[in-house]
Amino acid sequence: MTTRTPAHSPTAASLSDGRHSQLYAETMHSEQWRRRRARAIQRAGGKCQRCGSAERLEAHHLTYARLGREKPADLIVLCHACHQAEHSPHPDAGASFGRLVRAIRQRISARKRRR
Ligand SMILES: [Zn+2]
Ligand SMILES: [Zn+2]
Repeated sequence: MTTRTPAHSPTAASLSDGRHSQLYAETMHSEQWRRRRARAIQRAGGKCQRCGSAERLEAHHLTYARLGREKPADLIVLCHACHQAEHSPHPDAGASFGRLVRAIRQRISARKRRR
């Protein structure tokens, strides 16, 4: 027995309903899911639909409404990095907020200097 963490562990953890995450775990290990994922990657042209990388491709659920019987439109293909980013709420929200604050400060001090 291997204790490999599933590719979707962040989402699985966030699914609060126990029965839902059970279904999720079963889905992720099913042969049908492997085939659906392979087909999604094929449709995407073997590339991450966000950054175009061809490495460590994973299928990401846009919706879990049809978990276990997903439609092609329910999935997008992301590389591992983009997938991780997709599952962290706001990966660079802090950084971009810092940039925004700095930009505003610069604008204010520029205005002060002109006076
Ligand atoms: Zn990517
Ligand atoms: Zn995902």
